[in-house]
Amino acid sequence: MTQTARGSVEASVDRTAGTSSEPIFESIDPRTGEVVGTHPIHDQEHVSEAVRTARDAQRWWEELGFEQRKRRLDAWRELLVSRLDEAAELIAAETGKPMDDARLEMVLVVDHLHWAAAKARKVLGRRGVSPGLLMANQAATVEYRPFGVVGVIGPWNYPAFTPMGSIAYALAAGNSVVFKPSELTPGVGEWLCRTLAEVVPEHPVLRVVTGFGDTGAALCRAGADKVAFTGSTETGKRVMATCSESLTPVLVECGGKDALIVDSDADLSAAAEAAAWGAVSNAGQTCIGVERVYVVESVADRFIELVLGRAEKLRAGGQSTADFGPITMGSQVEVIREHIADATRSGGRSLLGGEDSVRPPYVDPVVLTDVPEDSAAVTEETFGPTLVINRVRTAEEGVERANAGRYGLGGTVFSRSKGVELARRLRSGMVAVNSVIAFAAVPALPFGGVGDSGFGRIHGADGLREFARPQAITRSRFRMPIEPMSFGRPKGAVRNLVRLMRLVRGRR
Ligand code: NDP
Repeated sequence: MTQTARGSVEASVDRTAGTSSEPIFESIDPRTGEVVGTHPIHDQEHVSEAVRTARDAQRWWEELGFEQRKRRLDAWRELLVSRLDEAAELIAAETGKPMDDARLEMVLVVDHLHWAAAKARKVLGRRGVSPGLLMANQAATVEYRPFGVVGVIGPWNYPAFTPMGSIAYALAAGNSVVFKPSELTPGVGEWLCRTLAEVVPEHPVLRVVTGFGDTGAALCRAGADKVAFTGSTETGKRVMATCSESLTPVLVECGGKDALIVDSDADLSAAAEAAAWGAVSNAGQTCIGVERVYVVESVADRFIELVLGRAEKLRAGGQSTADFGPITMGSQVEVIREHIADATRSGGRSLLGGEDSVRPPYVDPVVLTDVPEDSAAVTEETFGPTLVINRVRTAEEGVERANAGRYGLGGTVFSRSKGVELARRLRSGMVAVNSVIAFAAVPALPFGGVGDSGFGRIHGADGLREFARPQAITRSRFRMPIEPMSFGRPKGAVRNLVRLMRLVRGRR
């Protein structure tokens, strides 16, 4: 069997691992084409077995309770901090991103892991609620129990941070996890699994299965109790369809086409800096990256000048001094090229770079303006270091245009007087006002989208609850003098109840 990792610089090849006939594939450094590691292509049988063993591990993990789990997750966090550069090197090798960006990714991982472990008991633990008027004799409690085994399917652009948004929160909630990393970044997935096993040697509460899309589909069919998917909208739909066969619940975190709105009273240099970082960092391969800007006409010229001043100095490359790295997934290069071409064909103007900026595997920054709103560069996720800046009469018009798309992941607003007001009108899961992407680094905030960006939430209390099922329990403390839900109720009991209701609930 020969399989090709999509987008690899060199085609990944089949080989057989040692004496076993298990097919394997290679992960490739997109900067050099060098092989970073070889990994098995796991089939349905292997994936189902991984879920079965994770189920045994989960029983033990759940029994440990919040405190014991926290101790172990804290130990993992400490290990991740002490070996942060080791993780960053692997992330940099498999994605091509600069070391400092890989380090930053790990810093965020560590902070989220800390939050999830620290808050799990408070958010999910058993608590009493008022039993209400009718059931005053009941003690009512709710607690959030783990699902069991959670299957996590992750992308390659932030191969540690993105899946850990599910893995850390699912583990803190008492689930075990079977993780299928992207075929482009399997080494990072395996590293995460190995390091957790070092501090939790007793049972494999995190297992990793590697391979291509078929391995991901196998995980959807392997009997997991929930599947948390992060990736493109198209694959998200396929994951949902497969999970529907067994009514497996899904969390779907997909792509975006996030907009940045610049109001007439905005701090323009801060807005320009944010636009440049939001669009170009990680070579634009960020689901919550800034892909388009709507700037109010009166400040547009100055804003554009500031953006260009910043962006024209930025260069892609594989060397340590590069501002950002390559396009990790080779096949995306053509999508980026086509979006630039479509924008200029349909009347848009290039202010910086153009089709010539595409020099695989690198793409230098491209800034476009006056791009028609129905052009692919405005409507589709480009996932490259490109930015469309369109002028609007008012910030409100910018909001309208931002909301016209099918995605609704994040957003950014720069305004001194009405930042939050504009933010609240954006149809998106998260908004940063007067900064960019800040919400992803606040562990207490939920992260997720609407529309084609998916549904469900990672991070924060909502992210913990996403990996738990609420269980409601009532315990009778004493017998009511009149029990209306009994065949032994006296005649007139319900009528008296209705009278009582009229009295207390029938008026304001
Ligand atoms: P893909 O949708 O191509 O792949 C995501 C994962 O799904 C990979 O592990 C992939 O495996 C796996 N997969 C592929 N086919 C199937 C299938 N039929 N059944 C189950 N799993 C499958 O996304 P990318 O990896 O290219 O990631 C980029 C996308 O992720 C962008 O759209 C980006 O916006 C989005 N993203 C969203 C985030 C969010 O939080 N909303 C965060 C980060 C990225 P394989 O790689 O082996 O094909």
